[in-house]
Amino acid sequence: MSNQLRSFTLHNFRTIPQISSLSEEMIKEIEVVGRVLPFKTNNYVVNELIDWDNVETDPIFTLNFPRRGMLEKKHYSTIEKLLDANAEKDVIDEKVKQIRLSLNPNPAGQEHNVPSLGEIKLKGIQHKYPETVLFFPSQGQTCHAYCTFCFRWPQFSGMNELKFAMKESDLLLKYLRIHKEVTDVLFTGGDPMVMNASVLEAYIRPLLEPEFGHIRSIRIGTKSLAYWPYRYLTDKDSDDVIKLFELVAASGKSLSIQAHFNHPRELSTDAVKQAISRIRSTGAQIRTQSPLLRNINDKPELWASMWREQVDLGCVPYYMFIARDTGSKHYFELPLDKCWQIFRRAYSKVSGLCRTVRGPSMSDHAGKIQVLGVQEVRGEKIFVLRFIQGRNPKWVDVPFFAEYNPKATWFDQLKPAFNEERFFFEEKRAKLEVTKPFLFE
Ligand code: SF4
Repeated sequence: MSNQLRSFTLHNFRTIPQISSLSEEMIKEIEVVGRVLPFKTNNYVVNELIDWDNVETDPIFTLNFPRRGMLEKKHYSTIEKLLDANAEKDVIDEKVKQIRLSLNPNPAGQEHNVPSLGEIKLKGIQHKYPETVLFFPSQGQTCHAYCTFCFRWPQFSGMNELKFAMKESDLLLKYLRIHKEVTDVLFTGGDPMVMNASVLEAYIRPLLEPEFGHIRSIRIGTKSLAYWPYRYLTDKDSDDVIKLFELVAASGKSLSIQAHFNHPRELSTDAVKQAISRIRSTGAQIRTQSPLLRNINDKPELWASMWREQVDLGCVPYYMFIARDTGSKHYFELPLDKCWQIFRRAYSKVSGLCRTVRGPSMSDHAGKIQVLGVQEVRGEKIFVLRFIQGRNPKWVDVPFFAEYNPKATWFDQLKPAFNEERFFFEEKRAKLEVTKPFLFE
C-alpha cells in the first residue's frame, strides 16, 4: 500500500486495477450516475476498505461508487440516452444541471443560517445555534473521497451559487469579536483536513489569542480518519498537523475532532487505529457521527459494533443522524420508525460508555430533532420527539408529539398529534423568520 494519496474520479477510475472485475453494466452505471452526483475515491478506500469479492453488496463500494438506483429511473435514462448518442458536452451539462436542481441541493434551508456583517453576507459562515458557528474555509471544500449520500454534494458539483465557502478568516474573527455568545467554532466542509497544516494553522491560531477567550472549543468535522488516515501518519505535513493539535490543547481550549464513520470496517485497518491513537495523544478528543443509511449501515449489529470499537479506541460516540432530503436520498432513506427501531436495538446492546450517542436525529430547519420513540396515548399512536438543538434555545429538550406515520422519512412529513394545529414552536418560528432569522430569543 502506497502512502501517497491517489484520487480516482469519473475521468480515471478505469485505471483502478480492480475495476476489471466489474461487469460492463456496473461500469456504465458509474459513468451515468457519476455525471450527476460527485464521484471520487482513492487508493486507500480501494485497496484497504472495499471488499472486491462481494462488490455487488459491499457497503464501502456503495459509499463511494455511484450505483444505478441512486438516480431516479427517468433521470438515469435521460443521461444514459445522451451518452449513448454521444451528445455534445453542452447538451449533457445542461441536462445534468436541471437534474441537480431538482434534487433539493440546499436541504433544511441552510441559506437561512448565513449571517451578515454590516452589508457583507458571510457566505462561509453558518450561525444557526447561539453558541456554535460553522466556518467553511474555501480551501477545505473538497474531501479525500466523496460519499454517495453526501448532503453537501453541491459543494463539489460546480454549483457555485449554492456553495458555502470563505477565505477571509479576518471576517470570521470580526464576526466572533462581536458575537461573544459563541463558544464553539466548527470548521467544516467538504473536509477541512484536506487543507495543508499551514493553512489550517492560519485559521486556528488567531482563535487561541486572549481576545477570543469566549471561544472554548475548536471543532473540526472530518472524514479523513475513515478515508485517508495517513493524513495523521505519513503525509509530508502530518507532524505539523499533530503539533497544531498540541498547540490548541496547550492553549487550554478543547479540540474536538468530529469524525465521520459510516461502517465498522472503516475502523478496522492498522492505519486508522494508529491515526486515532496519534490524535488522542495530542489531548484532542474524537467524537463520532454518521447518518443511518439503507444499503450501508441499516443493521443494529453494525451500529453496536461500531460504537463498541470506537469506545475501545478511545473515541466518544456522538450522533446517529437521519439521512437528509437531498441528492440520492431515496436510495438511502428509511422510515423514521425503522430508524428509531435500529437505534434502540443497537443502543440496548452496548454498555453505558457507548450510550453517549444521541439519535436518531434530523437536522431540520428548526433544529436537531430527535425521535425519542413511538408510543400509544389514549388509543392514538404517536411519535415522541424533542429538540437536541433548537433555533431558539427555549425549545430544547421539551418533548412534543406527532401523529404516527409509518412512511414518514423526515420531519416535514409529520403532523402534530392530538388534533393540534401546529407544533408548539411553529408560531414563534414563523415570526422569527419574518423579522430576523438570527435572533435567538
Ligand atoms: S466526507 Fe462529508 S462532506 Fe465529504 S462527501 Fe462525505 S459526507 Fe460529504
